[in-house]
Amino acid sequence: MDQFAEPKPEIYSVDTKVLKSVCRSCHGGCGTLLHVKDDTLVKVEGDPDSPFNQGRLCPIGNATREMVYHPDRLKYPMRRKGERGSGEWERLSWDDALGEIADKLTAIKNEFGAEAVHLGTGTGRHHIRWVSRFAFAFGSPNWSEPGFAQCFHPRVNACTQTMGDFPVSDFLGPTPAECICFWGHQPLNSGPDGETRFNARDAFKNNPKTIVIDPRETFLAKKADLWL
Ligand code: SF4
Repeated sequence: MDQFAEPKPEIYSVDTKVLKSVCRSCHGGCGTLLHVKDDTLVKVEGDPDSPFNQGRLCPIGNATREMVYHPDRLKYPMRRKGERGSGEWERLSWDDALGEIADKLTAIKNEFGAEAVHLGTGTGRHHIRWVSRFAFAFGSPNWSEPGFAQCFHPRVNACTQTMGDFPVSDFLGPTPAECICFWGHQPLNSGPDGETRFNARDAFKNNPKTIVIDPRETFLAKKADLWL
């Protein structure tokens, strides 16, 4: 069966459950409806009840099934076979994987000290607190997450120190913006904390003046009333 094939109409039946969920493939958090039949995700659509995305999903959210069922998705521990870069892997059990990693970490700790281990994670997600707690329990202060260094915390700190708070763009607020300033970011491509591309596009329906501050002549810069 082609797992990426669009579900056929007959797949829907009284057995299909529709579960409310949230897409977290970006920071957006769009409401979703997951159609599940026999433990298989057969369809994903935007939740019309979500005030945030109002039934819409971007191409990434619409590709949720492809991500869930992609044959290359990592679903269990894999150990590299052969040379690095050879692309050869073998599956091992969770217990074996945990044991091997524990042995290696313990060996490094015994020979060089716990501080020789650095733990790094990707962008901020809900697991990051456990990573830093693990580093602390292991004995290493060396933990990093890129958002804390280059993105989220500088943003929070700069906003708090200059404005006293951490404002988030409210493209969907009850008062349409008359002027929008895009400073060094492109919410039509990617955006933090509720600035989805379709919400940003919605804001243009009211023909606001736009100011774009960006060294690059982006799509928004080309359309801007003022490009600085
Ligand atoms: S903007 Fe796209 S990727 Fe982000 S939460 Fe919404 S549907 Fe998901």
